[in-house]
Amino acid sequence: MNKSNQERCIQCRLIIQDCICSENSAFWAEHKITLLTSKREERIISNTGRLLRLVLENISPVYIGKKGWEKEVESEIMRTDYTPVILFPTPPVCDGQIIMEETGKPLNIFVLDTSWRNARRWLHKPVLMNLKKIGLKTVPPSEYYLRKQSAENYLCTFQAVTLLMAELRTKGFASVSFQINEKFTLWVKSLARERGLKITTTPS
Ligand SMILES: [Zn+2]
Repeated sequence: MNKSNQERCIQCRLIIQDCICSENSAFWAEHKITLLTSKREERIISNTGRLLRLVLENISPVYIGKKGWEKEVESEIMRTDYTPVILFPTPPVCDGQIIMEETGKPLNIFVLDTSWRNARRWLHKPVLMNLKKIGLKTVPPSEYYLRKQSAENYLCTFQAVTLLMAELRTKGFASVSFQINEKFTLWVKSLARERGLKITTTPS
């Protein structure tokens, strides 16, 4: 039987016997994530933004291209309980920690959950232009080898967001990050095995 026809978990999209959703307890982070994605992106089995939504609670998607998406983005930007920023890895970037100290509010982090090429396009959408850009201070090698990344050091959505949460010293995150990373490693391994891919890095 072809693996692609096997029954999949509707949440993690792994074949049922590999499902990682059991005893799933998502972490509520003080920082909100606004995940900018698309219906097309969400259908891709190796999409990690969807996986992120299994482990984090304070996260909501906006589907780019869907009717009214710009209004949804605008109302996220207007929220007074957070300071809006966008995560994008190319310089120049602001320091998220300093923004937090200056405004005294947690961040509403806009994350572009798509390919590198698309992300560059989305970044230039007028509604996103005035957001302060933040990046990662240190970028470790990617542990995600399921989709081609055209730029070196470009991390998948999952790794970029979890690293950022750690760098921002998000309250309580240190105690759950090990579990969250384990889940990610397991998920990547399962998909790689399904696809007959050789593991090119040694996940820690
Ligand atoms: Zn599952």
